[in-house]
Amino acid sequence: MHVNDVLDDSRVDTLVNVRGWVYRSRESGQLIFLVIRDSTNIVQVVVEKGAVTPEEFEMAKKSNIETSIEVEGKVSKEQKAVTGYEIHATKVKVYQFAENFPITKDKSDEFLLDIRHLWLRSREMTAIMKMRETVLDSIRDFMRERGYHEVQPPMFVGGMVEGGSTLFEVPYFGEKAYLTQSSQFYLEAFMYSLESVYTISPSFRAEKSRTRRHLTEYSHYEAEAAWVGNQQMMDLEEDMIIAIAQSLLSSNKGELEIVKRDLNKIKSVEKPFYRYRYEKVIEIGRQKGLQLDDVTDLGEKEERTITEDFDKPIFVYNFPTELKPFYHRPDPQDPSHVMNHDVLAPEGYGEIIGGGERIWNKDELISRMRNDNLNPEDYQWYVDLRSFGSVPHSGFGLGVDRLLTWLAGLDHINKVVPFPRTIRRLKP
Ligand code: ATP
Ligand code: MG
Repeated sequence: MHVNDVLDDSRVDTLVNVRGWVYRSRESGQLIFLVIRDSTNIVQVVVEKGAVTPEEFEMAKKSNIETSIEVEGKVSKEQKAVTGYEIHATKVKVYQFAENFPITKDKSDEFLLDIRHLWLRSREMTAIMKMRETVLDSIRDFMRERGYHEVQPPMFVGGMVEGGSTLFEVPYFGEKAYLTQSSQFYLEAFMYSLESVYTISPSFRAEKSRTRRHLTEYSHYEAEAAWVGNQQMMDLEEDMIIAIAQSLLSSNKGELEIVKRDLNKIKSVEKPFYRYRYEKVIEIGRQKGLQLDDVTDLGEKEERTITEDFDKPIFVYNFPTELKPFYHRPDPQDPSHVMNHDVLAPEGYGEIIGGGERIWNKDELISRMRNDNLNPEDYQWYVDLRSFGSVPHSGFGLGVDRLLTWLAGLDHINKVVPFPRTIRRLKP
């Protein structure tokens, strides 16, 4: 059975059997105290001389950290034990004694990244992986309920979405292929069939800047929906972020405690979020001492300052057209601005979503491309989508890893990814 099943009053005085890994061990005369962990929790095991065979006692004695082990024993309640219960071993079986485990207390973040294949076993990483799962599950539950279909776009692509500087090129049978930077264009294709679609797929970006929020491979949750406008998309995102925050609170209290998150910071993620036009946010930045031009591409540093004192996410909408890629739809009443939005997470975290209305008129799309010195031929199939019953539509892209970094209150994106990929890290 699993450790969590043992930690219950109904188990007291009954015989249980758990399998797992030695998390801690200590010896005290005739007693050996082992803390055993499995995927669910940790529990203290007491091995007493005489209660097991001499061979078993010797094995327990030799069981160092990460030894794989199985014990059978009787449960008792024990306030002093780490999780409130204790197993008094009657049988001990070792699967493999561990070599000297390299992770001890107070290792640097860098070392823990070098040894990530082992650090995954830590309570912190285990907690984070469980929270990741909750986030992904709740995205899927939410989108299904809203009538969105999940789709699988390709990862090998023939062109760019985000811009050439962050494109990864890979050889492809004598041709050039790229790793996708965003699945947006493909989602737009799916949309003409399924209307409301989303995907949770990797996106790849050759990010050379080392910030606390950039990876070269990240989990990208993207959606597109026909007949939806910019404001409506923001409404959906607001509901979705609240739903994710709520499901973390209800499913992962223990995990949030392990990463030392202040639960009140998640509880305060309620409706309504702040909604400011781009210019208002520039003004907020200036009030906080930032030197900002009227048209500035806000980066990690600026967003950190701007969002520091906020308690809820901020929608920043209608950016200056010149700051945004060609596919954003200019406001017909004010073509110098596009009908888009970013979502900035509070507490200094900054951008987690970029989204908005897409240009759905073919000629307008082509003219915006030419403006940006792009060749419409390079986007042939994307333009082609506007030739057959084009419709108004909007979409967004959310960085799952950034969202979790914020919700879990962590200081770096690489803490929420099992095997983070950055400019300097491809192993383990
Ligand atoms: P930034 O300005 O921070 O580089 P971006 O404007 O390039 O972000 P988008 O192209 O709008 O981001 O991508 C949509 C979302 O994907 C972002 O809001 C963010 O949450 C996430 N994202 C983008 N780049 C990365 C990255 N390198 N690592 C992790 N998440 C990312
Ligand atoms: Mg970027």
